[in-house]
Amino acid sequence: MSSKAFDFVIIGSGIVGLTVASELKKRQPSASIAVLEKEECAGIHASGRNSGVMHCGIYYGSDTLKAKVCATGAERMEEFARQENIAYNKCGKIILATSKEQLPTVEKLLRNAAENNIQARKIDNKELHEIEPYASAAEAAIYCPTTAVIDSVSVIRKLQNQLEGTDVQFFFSCQVTGQKNNKELETSQGTFSYGFLYNCAGAYADVIAKSFGLADEYKLIPFKGIYWKLSEQANNKIRANIYPVPDISLPFLGVHLTRVINGDVYIGPTAIPAFGRENYGKLKGIKLKEAAEIILELAEMYLRNDNNFRKLAHLEMAKYNKANFLASAQKLMPSLKAEDMVPTNKAGIRPQLINIKTRKLEMDYIFVHTENSLHILNAISPAFTSSFAFAEMIVDKSGL
Ligand SMILES: Cc1cc2nc3c(=O)[nH]c(=O)nc-3n(C[C@H](O)[C@H](O)[C@H](O)COP(=O)(O)OP(=O)(O)OC[C@H]3O[C@@H](n4cnc5c(N)ncnc54)[C@H](O)[C@@H]3O)c2cc1C
Repeated sequence: MSSKAFDFVIIGSGIVGLTVASELKKRQPSASIAVLEKEECAGIHASGRNSGVMHCGIYYGSDTLKAKVCATGAERMEEFARQENIAYNKCGKIILATSKEQLPTVEKLLRNAAENNIQARKIDNKELHEIEPYASAAEAAIYCPTTAVIDSVSVIRKLQNQLEGTDVQFFFSCQVTGQKNNKELETSQGTFSYGFLYNCAGAYADVIAKSFGLADEYKLIPFKGIYWKLSEQANNKIRANIYPVPDISLPFLGVHLTRVINGDVYIGPTAIPAFGRENYGKLKGIKLKEAAEIILELAEMYLRNDNNFRKLAHLEMAKYNKANFLASAQKLMPSLKAEDMVPTNKAGIRPQLINIKTRKLEMDYIFVHTENSLHILNAISPAFTSSFAFAEMIVDKSGL
């Protein structure tokens, strides 16, 4: 098969790969850039399956990479949405504490907001119910006015079109299978040589990094996010977004209610341990060898109870049952009934990085590199929100 040469090769056409391509084009307009994607089109994994919430950044301590890029990324995404006529709604969000044990976390979130210059304020139950009349009475509630929702799939399409217009070349159905030497990738469409490589392969970023002799201490474990939807009759019970106070020792935000850009209201996502990196259905997307490795890792996490994993696994697996899922949504909205929730096939996988030496779930973005390649690991939420600013950070890291 043929061999092709580019200044820059990017693996993955999710939001991270696309925004990195855009940032490279901005800095070096005449550079040749290839985006290699194993699927037939862009953004069909995490980037096309998320909640579409543009986070304000309140969850992240000021010492994190997430804090550095989340709010700026959201502003940049809003600018892109305006330029490209993409549906976007700055509808705000409520974070609801429903037990006294959550109050210290509420204070921590408000401190994050103050340190990171994010608009957020505590509201009382009167104001809460003016904003969200059906929300649970709260021990405390935070209102974040700058949180927005966006049509993520349109962002991907428009960005791809824009890149194609600047001669970035896309190779679809092109699976990267390994690297040959320091300058060449083996793929299902032959060899690609590069000046510099960006690994933005999402759920498979660790596998690719390992083929470069990197990331020995890391492994990605998939967690499945499934959603229900509010029925037409119940759809008016929420104005915008209601989130629980998260367990900040975990990288998941908890089941929330979100009115997406087309007006539907989704409830979810879960964070159920999954048996495949693309295991969106019950069995769909499970590959035997991959599943065996994941099950071994999950068993070890369960036995050692890393990060209180046993409790997480029990709580999350229980959400396969509608009554348990409903119970977690009712904490935010007590009047919800089983008949208000209709099933959907919306599901996403959060590829969560664990450090197999420290046995910790990694909470922040992580980079590993060689002289001419940079590998982006753990591009978890809010990587969609952050993406334009995150891409600047990525390209800076590669020394360009
Ligand atoms: C259920 C859910 C809800 C979320 N909600 C939000 C939210 O509301 N707000 C927010 O900011 N973030 C959210 N996120 C997180 C956000 O969606 C992700 O952080 C972001 O989309 C990651 O983008 P990515 O480009 O790294 O990965 P992806 O979109 O997964 O892209 C990686 C690409 O690499 C390709 N690839 C992998 N291996 C190879 C290979 N060997 N060869 C060629 N191509 C390869 C894949 O096919 C894929 O297209 C959510 C995620 C999930 C799963």
